[in-house]
Amino acid sequence: MKTTVLYLVVPCYNEEEVLEKSAARLKDKMARLTQAGRIGKRSRVLFVNDGSRDRTWEIIRELTKQDELFAGLSFSRNYGHQSAILAGMLAARGRADAVVTIDADLQQDIEALDRFLDCYENGSEIVYGIRNDRNTDGVFKKTTARIFYKLMHLLGCETITNHADYRLLSKKALDALAEFKEVNLFLRGLIPSMGFASDVVYFDVKEREAGQSKYTLRKMITLAVDGITSMSTRPLQISTGLGFVACLFSIGMFLSCIIDWVNGRVVAGWTSTVAIICLIGGMMMISQGIIGTYIGKIYMESKERPRYIVEAVILHDGEKEDANGRD
Ligand code: UDP
Ligand code: MG
Repeated sequence: MKTTVLYLVVPCYNEEEVLEKSAARLKDKMARLTQAGRIGKRSRVLFVNDGSRDRTWEIIRELTKQDELFAGLSFSRNYGHQSAILAGMLAARGRADAVVTIDADLQQDIEALDRFLDCYENGSEIVYGIRNDRNTDGVFKKTTARIFYKLMHLLGCETITNHADYRLLSKKALDALAEFKEVNLFLRGLIPSMGFASDVVYFDVKEREAGQSKYTLRKMITLAVDGITSMSTRPLQISTGLGFVACLFSIGMFLSCIIDWVNGRVVAGWTSTVAIICLIGGMMMISQGIIGTYIGKIYMESKERPRYIVEAVILHDGEKEDANGRD
């Protein structure tokens, strides 16, 4: 059997503190995999610089000069983690037999790569990495993550619980992924929806070695909204449902007012009236917000803008990369 050409795609956003250390560990791991005959010589570690404002890209450039194992790709600005891994995977497409995406801080256990390759060799086109526990996360991250997975499930978007973006995709799965042209991208929902033979690998999560989490609360909320709106239209149905409930309620209130009027009872006070107006007003605003969010997404999709702009590519094979994210 021919040895697998493996590309590790590593998104990096302001990772100067941890990048050199991670690169050394990845190099060591790749060398061991090569020696064991598990991966081919043309395998690479592809760093994607997601518009970092620190020395990240300089470090990546330096690494690519030192060793052909390292390759790099740089965005013109910060497009976010999902776009960075997509760009890396699409750049690896046509070059690699399999791609594994992994975070730059190496919180995900790189020793699990052997098991990813086992599953791939046994015929899986997609292998999902699932974290054993969340002990390294704070209470806040743990709670928000749990709410997120529950909410996604409730809203009809099937995600794999405790699977972040540590996963392997085969050439076949990459080709399928490249067919999805949407701008609003949520890989954790999209990839499971593609089907294919898949398997899971459990791994331990470590503490971040250096630097801080690059996932701010704002980035997490954006990810959650993108995830829900890109995978499900159930919020629209829920807002319609709420509208119906509010209508039924108002009919009831109307009838009770008429009965009061017929019986000659004076309506006492206006507090209840104001409360109901506020309630219905609030519900209407929420529904409009939900509809507005979807219209906004349609607007963005209809423009067919590039998903990201690649400013520089170093792949060591002389090929010029397509500069936009459309293919
Ligand atoms: N990241 C990125 N763009 C961003 C935010 C994060 O490419 O806008 C990368 C980051 O460099 C890291 C990975 O995404 O490689 C995961 O981020 P982080 O470790 O900060 O998230 P956490 O582990 O706290 O969820
Ligand atoms: Mg991390």
